[in-house]
Amino acid sequence: MEANENKLITYLESLVPPRNEIVTKMEKLAQEDQVPIMDLVGMETLLQLLRLSQPKHILEIGAAIGYSAIRMAQSIPDVNIVTIERDEHRYLQAKEHIAEAGLEDRIDLIFGDALEVLEQVERKGVFDLIFVDAAKGQYERFFTMYEPLLIDSGVIITDNVLFRGLVAEDHEAIEPKRIRNLVKKIDRYNKWLMDHQDYITTILPVGDGIAISKKRGEKI
Ligand code: SAH
Ligand code: MG
Repeated sequence: MEANENKLITYLESLVPPRNEIVTKMEKLAQEDQVPIMDLVGMETLLQLLRLSQPKHILEIGAAIGYSAIRMAQSIPDVNIVTIERDEHRYLQAKEHIAEAGLEDRIDLIFGDALEVLEQVERKGVFDLIFVDAAKGQYERFFTMYEPLLIDSGVIITDNVLFRGLVAEDHEAIEPKRIRNLVKKIDRYNKWLMDHQDYITTILPVGDGIAISKKRGEKI
């Protein structure tokens, strides 16, 4: 990343109002334990999109320690969130944080692999927003598996689609191979998403890259 851009991000971060105690605690924990929660500017951008679109039922794929779910629930007073986490340690941390924030009635945390809990999620109804923030190599599968649960005017938001800017680099020169393959998968996902007939997608170069896909619905 350009030095300039870092400065800009630091500046933007300095303008964000202080967060409450539990959120601050989670931000610290994420930094210490290297949990890939949304970075501050990306998070604030997502929250602002939610304030504009006022979703009532959100599905999140990838809860980690509960940071983004808690921030969404605290920013949108009457939203209900179903969120999925497959890592047991993180799931337990998320559970604790959600309880501590007093949000158990609005955040429904599911322990399991998103690719295996579709039936359980289906029983919870339909969603007006789906936030995809889990294993980067599986984005297309998450999208196709869960998009039938999205209402006609719904939105799917995918995080980390620019992968630290690596998607714009010469893919073949990227080391190690694991990262190179992941970059190629994300690039393929982005192209697939931009070409998707049922959605109009815009990618914001904010945070780690946020794709906003608006379902065209019945009326175009
Ligand atoms: N949304 C969180 C960050 C999520 S990090 C926040 O911003 O606060 C990505 C998380 O997705 C990790 O904790 C990882 O364990 C989880 N994950 C990855 N693949 C998954 C899958 N297939 N099903 C459920 N969770 C998954
Ligand atoms: Mg993310």
